[in-house]
Amino acid sequence: MSAMERLATGLRSDVCGALRASDAQRRVRLAGWIHRRRDHGSLVFIDLRDRFGIVQVVVDAATAPEAHASLAEARIEWVIAVEGIVTPRRPGTENEKVATGAIEVSADSVRILSRAKTPPFYINEPDAPIDESVRLKHRYLDLRREPLRDRLLLRSALVQSIREVHHDHGFVEVETPILIKSTPEGARDFIVPSRLQPGSVYALPQSPQQMKQLLMVAGFDRYFQIARCFRDEDLRGDRQPEFTQLDLEMSFVDEASVRSFVEQMVIEVTQRTRPDRPIQQIPFPVFTYDEVLERFGSDKPDLRYAMELIDLGAALPASTGFKVFDDARAGDGRIRAIRVPGKGGVARSEIDELTERAKRYGASGLVWIALQPDGQVRSPIAKFLSPEAIEAIWTSTGGTQTAPEGDLILVVAGERVLSAEVLGRLRVEIALESNMADSEALAFCWVHRFPMYQWDAETGRWDATHNPFSAPVPEHVGLLATSSGDLSRRSKEDPAGGALAQQYDVVLNGWELGGGSVRIHDRDLLERSFALMGHALDDARAKFGALLDAFEYGAPPHGGIAIGVERWAALLANQTNIREVMAFPKTQSGSDLMLEAPSQPDPKQWSDLGLAVSPRPGTPRP
Ligand code: ASP
Repeated sequence: MSAMERLATGLRSDVCGALRASDAQRRVRLAGWIHRRRDHGSLVFIDLRDRFGIVQVVVDAATAPEAHASLAEARIEWVIAVEGIVTPRRPGTENEKVATGAIEVSADSVRILSRAKTPPFYINEPDAPIDESVRLKHRYLDLRREPLRDRLLLRSALVQSIREVHHDHGFVEVETPILIKSTPEGARDFIVPSRLQPGSVYALPQSPQQMKQLLMVAGFDRYFQIARCFRDEDLRGDRQPEFTQLDLEMSFVDEASVRSFVEQMVIEVTQRTRPDRPIQQIPFPVFTYDEVLERFGSDKPDLRYAMELIDLGAALPASTGFKVFDDARAGDGRIRAIRVPGKGGVARSEIDELTERAKRYGASGLVWIALQPDGQVRSPIAKFLSPEAIEAIWTSTGGTQTAPEGDLILVVAGERVLSAEVLGRLRVEIALESNMADSEALAFCWVHRFPMYQWDAETGRWDATHNPFSAPVPEHVGLLATSSGDLSRRSKEDPAGGALAQQYDVVLNGWELGGGSVRIHDRDLLERSFALMGHALDDARAKFGALLDAFEYGAPPHGGIAIGVERWAALLANQTNIREVMAFPKTQSGSDLMLEAPSQPDPKQWSDLGLAVSPRPGTPRP
């Protein structure tokens, strides 16, 4: 049976989008939605649509008076069934833009299956701008429109390839529970009160992290899951409170073996899903965290364009005469620059706007030097710097003019990380605003060797930069072993604070696509690591007891990663918001506008759970 024959049902012999010239003279039964309707008196033309495409149906009152009469009232989005003969279109009336454009179906029978109100927006105008809240409220109609339908189909193909490639490589798909105990990934938990144990709650998984590690202890060797994850945090373009991860874990691995499998898998899945989009570089470039910070001012560099950050420190004379520069260098600060090609003629208002942004991102100011098309240098600091210093800046940012319009150099002086991050943000924004990125290219890279911990001055403790189960790089295991693990001695000076983790992120076009690590699989070391992060032993045992205990029964070395399925699908579909690849996403405030969730529960539900709501201080009772 062919793939198309399998789609036949009692109501249809074929699907609308699949009919071709080779089907001519076949009698077919079709069912679908009226996409468009054109009335030419005795001839009525219908574009009939289903998920597979559109086909033109023609009904002639002269030869099929009953069918013609049935269509009299029918309007767009009504659901109908038709029966008729596939007929080649008359020469000159073919439509090359539509896959079925060589034929039409001359129908002699039309049946109305379902009527439709006038929709709040036109399904047949895929490019019409529609207020997003209207799209979300009537998502089932938005999903009928071609762009969203195609993105969901792409997502389905992506997930299908993910499954195939993992099975080909010996992975076992395991579903882990949704009602669990807290698994921290740095966000707040969603909690679900237990009716059977009043006063107790389950947490929804922020990720299946502990369970996948327990599956390794259980000997499953290679696990994967298309896992739903829940994180109660503020929403952004690349975040939703519930989302899907490709979650995987492997036994008997080191960092290189995990990255090698993941890279091969990501390439294979990407190429199967979007064979038309070029992967910029294979193997993926690998950077350390320190290197990407220095070169791109970001831990998720977009490599589709250059404009790397340059440290001007070495090029400038010891004293430049410009206080901002000299002060930065007196401390631990840096003077960093990017060179924007073709922006030599930049308008003052544009500079003011960029300066405002730099300040918003934390810089004390933005210095600019423009090489104008006539070769003149324009800069407010030209009067402070010697011609040699200006020359040195030009040379170290790449030498002579690169574009006929002249170039613009932007300089930020200040603290090491801040100066890099501010310029890193400007780099991305300027590149996107001036279309520097090839929109078809897929630029993947790895970033690894992150610090294990970051010092949190507020709580006075070290926090995991990734998840708390990551292992240090082999040469830093000793740092953890010498850490006292003693809370009273926990300090910013603890040598373990400088440890690097066997942690890696895979980055695509400036988005963190996923991240993972090789894990600690030794109970003692994990307890020391928890202690450093401020977990008293009892507390750590209460939170992660199962994992700690399991490590005493023979735990294989293991590691893994999780990749955001929506981010991957969104990037493959050239979208900037993951809502665009989700069937039923939530709004910025976490609402489902269609189902009207969250909603007030029935009072009985509260009492069954033994709960009551008390208003937050300052909020009136609803
Ligand atoms: N559980 C981690 C996350 O959700 C991924 C991992 O380390 O495998 O980011």
